[in-house]
Amino acid sequence: MSGFRADVLTLYPEMFPGSLGISLAGKGLAEGLWSLSTTQIRDFATDKHRSVDDTPAGGGPGMVMRADIVAHALDSVSAADDDRPRLLMSPRGEPLTQAFVRDLALGPGVVILCGRFEGVDERVIEARGLREVSIGDYVLSGGELAAQVLLDAVVRLLPGVMGKLTSGDEESFEDGLLEYPHYTRPQVWEDRSIPEVLRSGDHARIAKWRQAQREEITEHRRPDLWARHLNSGKNLARSKASRKNATGT
Ligand code: SAM
Repeated sequence: MSGFRADVLTLYPEMFPGSLGISLAGKGLAEGLWSLSTTQIRDFATDKHRSVDDTPAGGGPGMVMRADIVAHALDSVSAADDDRPRLLMSPRGEPLTQAFVRDLALGPGVVILCGRFEGVDERVIEARGLREVSIGDYVLSGGELAAQVLLDAVVRLLPGVMGKLTSGDEESFEDGLLEYPHYTRPQVWEDRSIPEVLRSGDHARIAKWRQAQREEITEHRRPDLWARHLNSGKNLARSKASRKNATGT
């Protein structure tokens, strides 16, 4: 099958497609715009209890997923010449960003290993070149939801999945800024009106207002993104005062 191919290795294949089976991602899946296969890691266990984990070397709490079993599972779906990135969902991984999501969406697909227990034996991470990716600074009980978050973000960018709804180009993070506020009918709701500029029909003014809003929201809510944006050199970022001049607000 052509198109973006996702392989997910998990102890809970029944969690898939889960949220990926509905709405845009689900429609894309049904239409063959992308494909999803799950592999039960336990199928590669070698004992009668189908164990995939063992106690941590050096002691400590919990259990660790065994390198040999995880490697067998990985090798069964991704040969050495597979050009898809191999990811391990992991709280200590690099933070998932829209830039990485976009890169993945341009590629042939992805192989995702979902951890459980305390995590995965370090040797298989090294030996199979797994890139560790985190969806945030908190600890989930397993990598499955994290994999669904990543795949949802990627799949919606695949050609044909979003259709004409939006190109995604103006969304949060696409150029380092958060998105401007949205409004729709009714024009007045609980004494709150849609900002006058959005009803003006003046597209240049609307664009300026939206850009100023993006800058203000980013500066206020995400000083980290704002600082990066200011340092990027290609920004049109403006001070609060010049934003006021630009929009007359
Ligand atoms: N002992 C690990 C630690 O302290 O970093 C936490 C393991 S967690 C209970 C089990 C699995 O959930 C991880 O191996 C990973 O696959 C997944 N996981 C948990 N939090 C995650 C996050 N923020 N991003 C991505 N995956 C996560």
